[in-house]
Amino acid sequence: MYPLQYDPHICENCSSVDCLTRCQYMHFDLKTAREEKNRILEQADTRVLADCVTCYACEEYCPNGNHPFYQIVELQEKKDFLPAPAPITRQQIVMMQPKGNLQPAKVSAPLVNLCAFPMLAGSIRGKLFEGAATVSGNDIFCNIMWLHFGKNSLIRERVPQSIERLHTFFLAESGLKEMVCFHDECYGAYTQLAAAFNMAVPFRPVHLFEYLNRRLDELKDNIKPLGAKVAYQRPCSNRLAPHTDLLLDEIFRKIGVERAVREYDRENALCCGGVLRGHQKDDLADDLQRRNIEDMRAAGAVYAVFNCPFCMFTLGEAVAEKGLFPILVSDLCQQALERK
Ligand code: SF4
Ligand code: SF4
Repeated sequence: MYPLQYDPHICENCSSVDCLTRCQYMHFDLKTAREEKNRILEQADTRVLADCVTCYACEEYCPNGNHPFYQIVELQEKKDFLPAPAPITRQQIVMMQPKGNLQPAKVSAPLVNLCAFPMLAGSIRGKLFEGAATVSGNDIFCNIMWLHFGKNSLIRERVPQSIERLHTFFLAESGLKEMVCFHDECYGAYTQLAAAFNMAVPFRPVHLFEYLNRRLDELKDNIKPLGAKVAYQRPCSNRLAPHTDLLLDEIFRKIGVERAVREYDRENALCCGGVLRGHQKDDLADDLQRRNIEDMRAAGAVYAVFNCPFCMFTLGEAVAEKGLFPILVSDLCQQALERK
């Protein structure tokens, strides 16, 4: 059920092995990368299973549309290799399971999916989200996070359930065809990941950046440019929808901010380290956090801008201590609209 779209023959003839040579955490030369890739293809032991920090980036780096990261997760699970300690994995599986207390509801458009972050409902306000309804909670959790836990089996089990609940309980019930994904994780789950695992999605997921661009065009007379330099912390799941990173440039242009040139932005983005703390790899998490924040400061930014709430929970306090103002993309847009 839900087989992964992965073609080993493409890898056998791949000259670049970009998925591993471009990995920022393992530092392979081409020869070693090819050897490790062959081990993956032969389903043999490979250091990749232990050293992969689950950053999703190779999903973006593969020039051939294969799914190298999902294949690594497939092998981790097959070999019973857990990236996180077993008690933490077990705890997360129980904590994030569906609660079964969802009720069908007629909702108004735009429908904004807050996934497992109901505490972000305060960001859905003002003219930017006029008339919006929100949905959140475990029953519609996108479940893509199991990629960080070596658990494709939970992706196969729980992602289709969430798709089905969103569709039957809210979208079909309300006659809606599209849903705004507040978090990159949901958009990535219901577009790129669902396609990779042959899951049907009977509605149109709208990326938050598409929605914000649309609203900023409609509200352009209300925008007061912020005139500030911002450092953007690109989240791991945006690797699944790289085209949306260009939509963010449009947003920044419309609200009058300059995206600082960072060493660790765009295709070279560096993990915030949050998942690694959960995996009890604190030294690596500390190192990534330090490099990210030094890079933001060196770029001369005033704001540290996040689209992933989890990245903001992880880095927000530390960037504030260094004098940057942590803020979500949508709240930054609100500032440009609410400025006197
Ligand atoms: S996953 Fe993509 S980049 Fe990696 S070896 Fe296969 S085709 Fe090449
Ligand atoms: S997911 Fe990230 S850390 Fe893992 S192999 Fe791919 S690029 Fe490297």
